[in-house]
Amino acid sequence: MDRPPSPPPELTGVVSTDPDARRSVAGSRGPIWMVPAAVARPRHIDEVAAVVAWCAAEGLPLTPRGAGTGMPGGNVGRGLVLDLTAMDGLELRADGAMVAGAGAVAATADALARERSRHFPALPSSAPWCTFGGMISTDAAGARTFSYGPTHRWTDALRVVMSDGSIQTLRREAAPADSAPWAGLHATLRSLELPAPPAVRKNVSGYAVDRFLATGDPIDLIAGSEGTLVVVAEGTFRTEPLPESQGVALVGVPELDALPELTARAESSGASACEYFGRRLLELGRLLDDPRVSRLDVRAGALLVEYAGSPEHVAAGLALWDDEAITASDPETVGEIWGLRHAASPSIAHAAGDRRSIQFIEDAAVPRSALPAYLRGVQAALDRHGVDAVLFGHAGDGHLHINPLIDLRLPEWKETVRGVMEEVIDLVAELGGTLSGEHGDGRIRAGGLARIWSAPHCRAFRAVKAALDPQGLLNPGVVLGEQAADPLEGLAEGPDLQRLVKPILPSTD
Ligand SMILES: Cc1cc2nc3c(=O)[nH]c(=O)nc-3n(C[C@H](O)[C@H](O)[C@H](O)COP(=O)(O)OP(=O)(O)OC[C@H]3O[C@@H](n4cnc5c(N)ncnc54)[C@H](O)[C@@H]3O)c2cc1C
Repeated sequence: MDRPPSPPPELTGVVSTDPDARRSVAGSRGPIWMVPAAVARPRHIDEVAAVVAWCAAEGLPLTPRGAGTGMPGGNVGRGLVLDLTAMDGLELRADGAMVAGAGAVAATADALARERSRHFPALPSSAPWCTFGGMISTDAAGARTFSYGPTHRWTDALRVVMSDGSIQTLRREAAPADSAPWAGLHATLRSLELPAPPAVRKNVSGYAVDRFLATGDPIDLIAGSEGTLVVVAEGTFRTEPLPESQGVALVGVPELDALPELTARAESSGASACEYFGRRLLELGRLLDDPRVSRLDVRAGALLVEYAGSPEHVAAGLALWDDEAITASDPETVGEIWGLRHAASPSIAHAAGDRRSIQFIEDAAVPRSALPAYLRGVQAALDRHGVDAVLFGHAGDGHLHINPLIDLRLPEWKETVRGVMEEVIDLVAELGGTLSGEHGDGRIRAGGLARIWSAPHCRAFRAVKAALDPQGLLNPGVVLGEQAADPLEGLAEGPDLQRLVKPILPSTD
């Protein structure tokens, strides 16, 4: 983009075109690198509104951004990056509701709640860095989404800036679908007679039109919209009392075909989380030598099953796994075992050696019964292209992260990435899955939506965008791809920011 227009006087000190400021938001923890034309760092909602109104008047595209931990490139753009991290106010109300500025960090909020023996149950693994604005905009989930649901389920109100710079306050109890532009959009979507969406437990691909149709609540549509419909300035999020006790079972997975039964058993016994460590993750993290793991049959990996609640519930849950697992309910061991899971992404990045852990097929979700076919199909695609990868994630939700380790020294590396991606999109479509369970489509997956979603759903997504952002200024190219856009534009062009995070697992460097 050419030089951006000069900002009006009231935005002096908020908007910057300084090269270092622009480079500081060109990358993310995901693999896409794009240097924007300008950066704005508002401190309160009126400044956000002024920046959005100015961008609308000038036709300047705008990318809202929190901590930049998002994976698929929704947090970078070529126009103006709106960095909301300074809006980090936090207040825990007497009723346990957390009022959080868009830039408030998840772990800081959770720590505040814990001072009052409460917690925020939808906490993602990236909680030490990610912001509430990013979490609602990706409808972030965590390991405990298995039982507690993702961020939107814990969101009671949002203050948002619309694409024309106007401000709206949305509350769940206030039936805002009666007001503009939501009511008209709801009617349009009703008229499209959408078929059933993919039968998966987690889905943040496209826009949540089915959820919005069911509840009529704009918060349900904004959740997961990746900065393409509104800018979130503040939210009110519920917390809940900490469980009385917790326990974990580390369960050996002897063969992939055991996964549907093991995960179904976790669900029916009231587990709060059910996470998978693929065999390669156990190897790379040198966990096979861990005396706890070496007692288990982990030929096809391991599951971490957690129970939370009364001591009786935890004990009854753990007892179900006694024969094939190691179990623990003392806080120290429980914390240690969770530490292994939370360290997965940064640890893989470090263990990759000369290769780079690149997330481009990292977030698909399939029906749980299809997990063995999905894992075998992905492995076959990786093998065909000679790519090593680490598989792990939220098996209980049929949702697995796949981090391929790509050797950027090979001249054909980008074509290899493209080939793997194409095959995995076909596989997900064939298994009735979705391209994203929690990270979003971003730029990388936007072009694949039409292969997963029905034609009426794709029409519905475009109707949503047209109603809420008619000028197409909010994060263009994200969720809805632009014609002829290369999904791999900017891939691995910047530094590997994941390596800056200290790994907890031993690295093989
Ligand atoms: C190590 C690691 C572990 C992770 N674990 C998880 C996990 O367990 N679960 C999970 O769901 N994700 C996980 N992620 C992905 C990421 O942390 C989440 O998507 C998170 O919600 C992004 O928050 P952020 O503040 O970094 O947002 P960004 O990365 O800055 O932005 C993400 C998207 O939200 C939009 N956005 C950000 N703020 C706003 C706003 N105020 N208004 C409108 N749009 C906005 C952006 O435009 C972008 O499209 C992980 C990432 C890493 C690096």
